[in-house]
Amino acid sequence: MTGLDLRPGTPQAHPSTLRVLVVEDNPGDAALVATMLAEVAPGVHELHHARRASEGVERLLGAGFDCVLLDLSLPDAHGTEALGLLRTAALDVPIVVLSGRRDEAVAIGAVQEGAQDYLIKGEVDGRLLVRSIAYAMERKRAEVELAHQALHDALTGLPNRVLLLDRLAQALTRMERRKGRLAVLFCDLDRFKVVNDSLGHAAGDELLVTVADRLEGILRAGDTAARFGGDEFVVLCEELDGERDAVRVAERIVAALAQPVRLGDDVIHVHVSIGISVGEAAHARPEQLVSDADAAMYRAKGRGGSPFEVFGAGMRERASERLAIETALHQALGRDELRLHFQPQVGMTTGEVNGVEALVRWQHPKRGLLLPGAFIDAAEETGLIHRLGTWVLEQACRQSVAWGGRLLMSVNLSARQVLHPDLPETVARVLRETGCDPSTLCFEVTETAVMDDVDGITVVLEDLKRLGATLAIDDFGTGYSSLRALQQFPFDVVKIDRSFVGGIASSEQEAAIVAAVISLSHALGLRTVAEGIETVEHLDCLRTLGCDTGQGFYFARPCAASQPQGA
Ligand code: C2E
Ligand code: MG
Ligand code: MG
Repeated sequence: MTGLDLRPGTPQAHPSTLRVLVVEDNPGDAALVATMLAEVAPGVHELHHARRASEGVERLLGAGFDCVLLDLSLPDAHGTEALGLLRTAALDVPIVVLSGRRDEAVAIGAVQEGAQDYLIKGEVDGRLLVRSIAYAMERKRAEVELAHQALHDALTGLPNRVLLLDRLAQALTRMERRKGRLAVLFCDLDRFKVVNDSLGHAAGDELLVTVADRLEGILRAGDTAARFGGDEFVVLCEELDGERDAVRVAERIVAALAQPVRLGDDVIHVHVSIGISVGEAAHARPEQLVSDADAAMYRAKGRGGSPFEVFGAGMRERASERLAIETALHQALGRDELRLHFQPQVGMTTGEVNGVEALVRWQHPKRGLLLPGAFIDAAEETGLIHRLGTWVLEQACRQSVAWGGRLLMSVNLSARQVLHPDLPETVARVLRETGCDPSTLCFEVTETAVMDDVDGITVVLEDLKRLGATLAIDDFGTGYSSLRALQQFPFDVVKIDRSFVGGIASSEQEAAIVAAVISLSHALGLRTVAEGIETVEHLDCLRTLGCDTGQGFYFARPCAASQPQGA
């Protein structure tokens, strides 16, 4: 009788050899197993023997086994207890129970506890045993794969939300014993949806995989990067000294993602916003830490400047308010709660109203009339801006027709709207349906929006222009590439931001800037509109500087169309 290997775990003799651990206190039974296997499949199974459950656990922790054959009555553990001990020692190794007892209930219990098969010693022969081991391994492999799939993101292979929350819970428990703190970093790609919309989903997927690789590349062993959904990634770092360490990790993430990404023929610059929450031992709930980091991320995104933000008091309230706005805005679109107000634009020399700007409002059932500052960002983030924008365009075109097309109707477009390749088509359709003359329509795009994605925007702007519409660059002077933008894009009108107009009468410097903008615009063949004229001094200054058109509270506040237009 040979084949029973009682040496401690040694490396595999042959790659196709299966390492089987027999946990059995009866040496006779163990020897019988060895004989049966050797007869049917000589040289295939390399057997190791443990006489007690504790010894079996030790062996399993030490070396990679392919299968365990387990007797359920051991000197130090019985039944499901023995099974549980060995299973926990190696969750990915299949266990076949070899029991002296024929008991259906015990057998089913064993399988429920994680055994792959239950065999009765007296009824087993070599062939059955070989087959049972092979099946057990296959079932275990499938089980491990399913478990992996359930806990990982299919696209990037990173842990998913469930696994991250589990690791976070464990890390919080560990922190009670050890010193050090942990941090959760909530990372959200800026304008990922724009990539998806304009370059297609395959490109979007590729970008996500690249981001995942880069995140993993900069983390220490033991830290976890997880994909939380969409373009959201969450990083968990342990054993930090405090907030400063967490900020350093955020800086590394920003730097790693700042490298341009090539997607086919396009080169994309990824920007990320990161919210950081630092966990104390007192933090009982993993979900809270993650949602705190999420709230901090929104703050980072909303504020511009530094791409990350550490969670602070007050952010929780703001986060829930934002969510409430999102949900309510959805309903608002369905319930006809949006309104369009119009603000006149007045010729500086004639004093006549020659155009209006359409400005959206939300007649909120509880909060009253809301200005766009309260909801446009949320609409952008959620993609609702496309529905909202189409509604605005339809109303504006109808109103323009109702006024006999005598006034140039200006409609604002947000960055995300202009990046949507379908925009020119939507505009053409609305023009057709409302019978609006395109030459009475002007689209206002902010300077910061056009600098976001120069190539994508140029195409859309040129299409709009081809339809016959006028194009204005809005809030001019607030971005940093102003002059280039004027040259690069097919604009007809420059709207000087009201922050310059406000200081024009009191500050020589501001006045000099506005003077330069006006003369440069005229040199390039563009008309100028000054926003935010509030006083007669503003008006006089701008008229002296040669500004063509003015808009502001001095002339009129935005109001509904039923009210008379003009000052
Ligand atoms: P904007 O396009 O620069 O619009 C001008 C804003 O300045 C309006 O604010 C207007 O009420 C305000 N304003 C006009 N005259 C004066 C003045 O003399 N003094 C001061 N302090 N403010 C003045 P509002 O209506 O709150 O709109 C804010 C921004 O929201 C707009 O800035 C525009 O970027 C955006 N927005 C408005 N309607 C829409 C829309 O339908 N679609 C999109 N995508 N964005 C819109
Ligand atoms: Mg505007
Ligand atoms: Mg403006």
